[in-house]
Amino acid sequence: LPPEAFFSGRGLDRADLLRARPDRLAELAAQPDARQLVWMEGLPLLDDRGRLVWDRVTVPSLFLGKDGGKPRFSPLPDAPPTGIAFGLLGQLDGTDAPLFACALSLANWHGRHGHCSVCGQPTTMVRGGWSRRCAGCGAEHFPRCDPVVIMLAEHEGRLLLGRQPHYPPDRFSALAGFVEPGETIEAAVARELSEEAGIEIADVRYVASQPWPFPSSLMIGCTARALGDALTVDFTELDDARWFTRAEVAAAVSGEASAAFLPPPRFAIARTLLEDWLTA
Ligand SMILES: [Zn+2]
Repeated sequence: LPPEAFFSGRGLDRADLLRARPDRLAELAAQPDARQLVWMEGLPLLDDRGRLVWDRVTVPSLFLGKDGGKPRFSPLPDAPPTGIAFGLLGQLDGTDAPLFACALSLANWHGRHGHCSVCGQPTTMVRGGWSRRCAGCGAEHFPRCDPVVIMLAEHEGRLLLGRQPHYPPDRFSALAGFVEPGETIEAAVARELSEEAGIEIADVRYVASQPWPFPSSLMIGCTARALGDALTVDFTELDDARWFTRAEVAAAVSGEASAAFLPPPRFAIARTLLEDWLTA
């Protein structure tokens, strides 16, 4: 099995066969152990232990699934999220992370897809919140999930890491970019590394994936072997990109104060990729 990134794991039984049964969903919502997610300012509310907060079901809009056999629903939040809320992710308990990602991505999608992309007429939620149907042309629209490649390029024992302009000071992380229509994962890894760092690569290998609900990405973590170490950094995308030795990566990941860089946070798959690379 691949290393487990934050937001991964089974999370809950999605019970997807029940989504097409409004009668069964209504019965589940009426069960005494049914609960709905509580939202605050467009994000799932967390308690002081970092767990999701649940309440009795009043508006069973989205059927998230069953958690330990107990039905889990969510209303749609009143407002879009106020930001990526990395502070919130720092508090979120890993046990609840898959459910957090599922609810947030799905709610974001509903908030942005009130009209049909085919004919422009209003759409309505169907299948327990897992699709929207257009009353005008009958088209059915499903929640989107956007693939992103995120990769470590290695050259003779050193790793290429970069800094995006919005990172905190000293942070370096894996390079990443959206997979484009008509492109394979391997081609996207090669293109992004060529565009952002000016290197050619071979041997792309899949390591692990991670749902990233801001708003709806699927991060596909890979490694690649760089054919050379001369960099041509695209400074319109990155503040910097550099090679780091195994010792420098190990010091950063273990939190040493004198480390050469600040590693990505524990909830980022880039951190999982670095930790996995160190164990190889
Ligand atoms: Zn339509």
